Amino acid sequence: MQRRTFLSATTAVATSSLLLPRASFSAEPRPEIEFVVVTDTHLGYKDKDAALKLWSKTAAAIDKQPGKFVLHLGDVVDRGVDEQYPRYLEARQLIKKPVHEIPGNHDPAETFQKHLRQEIDTASVYDWLRVVLVNNSHTDSHDGFLTEQQLAWLAEQAALAAKHHQQLLFCLHVPVHSNKHPDRGWHVKPASGQTQFYDLLKEHEARTLALFHGHFHNGLRGWHDHGKLHEVCFPSALYNLDRQLEAKQAPGYNPVEYRPGYTLVKITDKEIQLRFQATDAADALKKNLAV
Ligand SMILES: [Zn+2]
Repeated sequence: MQRRTFLSATTAVATSSLLLPRASFSAEPRPEIEFVVVTDTHLGYKDKDAALKLWSKTAAAIDKQPGKFVLHLGDVVDRGVDEQYPRYLEARQLIKKPVHEIPGNHDPAETFQKHLRQEIDTASVYDWLRVVLVNNSHTDSHDGFLTEQQLAWLAEQAALAAKHHQQLLFCLHVPVHSNKHPDRGWHVKPASGQTQFYDLLKEHEARTLALFHGHFHNGLRGWHDHGKLHEVCFPSALYNLDRQLEAKQAPGYNPVEYRPGYTLVKITDKEIQLRFQATDAADALKKNLAV
């Protein structure tokens, strides 16, 4: 039903834009898009119920937030334990909006398929935003990997975004950005697809907003040193560690906030506005990224 409404709205816009001079079409501001990002819930962490309890509380809090949809950036459960997925899904029902997950290195592909979604690499379109969800995790490594087939599929997604005048947001559990000590050091290495993926992003620079990741458990961690591209690791909803990255002058940003929580994202014409909300707190951490 929602999809049909969306399609007919798109057709209406496309038709009316034919009647407008080109200049006034490009001057039209795009509507804001708002959604929630959550990651690294690790249900079954240390074989205890604490992660499930916190996820239930977090899901209830997310449901009260504005936003059209929710992105979960991987490590849904800890160590791929099969029985944890139904628990995750039961608490997820508290959220009355679409939730799109990607697997992390703790989510074996076949278990993810069994419980969450048959087609792992997928894209969802919300208005003018194409959200591309791709699995770059292996269960036996902390690094990220993109296969030739995935890179070809990512190129197809970028081409579709170009054709439909959409902006691109890519979600991958493991960051693509190179990082080393004092950071974790985990990323997509040049031989594992990093070089080709950055080449593709450069080709589509005008329509690529950001790469969103989980995996690090270091609060909000990000870089902005590949042209206009923003690369952001989101805080875990279970636990985060202070690696004192800013004190140690690691590149990029890592504001001091390490409580577990979720992030409200609003994309406007000018900014990606991040508002991190610790699950147990009223105050929020804000970070605006210029686009
Ligand atoms: Zn991970």
